[in-house]
Amino acid sequence: TNRIFSGIQPSGDLHLGNYLGAIRRFVPLQDTHECIYCVVDMHAITVWQDPEELRRATRELTAAYLAAGIDPKRSIIFNQSRVHQHAELAWVFNCVARIGWMNRMTQFKDKAGKNSENVSLGLLAYPSLMAADILVYKATHVPVGDDQKQHLELTRDIAAKFNNDYAASIRAEGLEPEFFPLTEPLIAGPATRIMSLRDGSKKMSKSDPSDQSRISLLDDADAISKKIKRATTDPEPLPSEVEGLKGRAEADNLVGIYAALADRTKAEVLAEYGGQGWGVFKPALADLAVAVLAPMADEMRRLLADPATIDGILAEGAERARPIAQATMKDVRRIVGFIG
Ligand code: ATP
Ligand code: MG
Repeated sequence: TNRIFSGIQPSGDLHLGNYLGAIRRFVPLQDTHECIYCVVDMHAITVWQDPEELRRATRELTAAYLAAGIDPKRSIIFNQSRVHQHAELAWVFNCVARIGWMNRMTQFKDKAGKNSENVSLGLLAYPSLMAADILVYKATHVPVGDDQKQHLELTRDIAAKFNNDYAASIRAEGLEPEFFPLTEPLIAGPATRIMSLRDGSKKMSKSDPSDQSRISLLDDADAISKKIKRATTDPEPLPSEVEGLKGRAEADNLVGIYAALADRTKAEVLAEYGGQGWGVFKPALADLAVAVLAPMADEMRRLLADPATIDGILAEGAERARPIAQATMKDVRRIVGFIG
């Protein structure tokens, strides 16, 4: 069977990269797969979060899932901390994974910067908790942005090492030798890595200190237009073919955003706008972004006006997620040799 799992951190303002690279792609998967979409609040606190702000961001992300078209009747939507088995399995994985594997993660290096001795231990162990999120449901596929590819590889490494380290015990318990599946990432489309509007070499992120670097899902039309019009670009007009975007990171990014929002290819976008300057393309992109994002923002605001309903959806989702996670942990406990 195929099972989808994916999670997003409630760690700041959701942005266009989260939408195009992840949330939007979660929706059609509901037609073909059993889907579990998580608000990973335990990941968020790997970097300190104001508690009130964490609650706000948890509800905002849930509202974004719903507004984008994730159906809480068909899919499971819940917040990670409610299902304790994530933390329990993460501990076992901390004992399976090697410190060297964690030290090689580019996300850790980027987020820790020069300060790597003084960030939380949780930030280093982040991929181990992520592997637990996925594998506690034995998910087969994980739709994510391109930046998570390395973490998915590590998830496979952890699954393979667990299956191997405990092979005899897995056999003795009469379980499948591939106890944990080797989960595949689903990274596809023209928007797998949206870049910062200020710096074409950095990905758009919630944690970027500059609000101008990203288009937030709750930005109003005016803010969206201003950010796009001020986005860093070179002075050249747009090329007529995709080849011409090579070495022009900012131009490539804006054309990619247009293509993703319009459900077209970059080639199609350039067939229309090739030869045009930014004075033509940026306003067209701003109008398109507003047309796509404004109705979703309105729906998010409508949902956020009733936090009790949102909290109820998260509670109900956790009730459905928990039995799946419990069944996996029951086996893991026996495999590892815990009594009781
Ligand atoms: P943070 O800076 O706190 O890590 P983030 O913006 O990277 O925040 P995450 O919660 O880490 O967001 O990631 C949520 C999902 O969004 C993941 O699937 C990730 O791959 C995807 N994603 C994040 N940034 C981008 C981006 N710039 N382009 C495409 N997908 C992205
Ligand atoms: Mg991230």
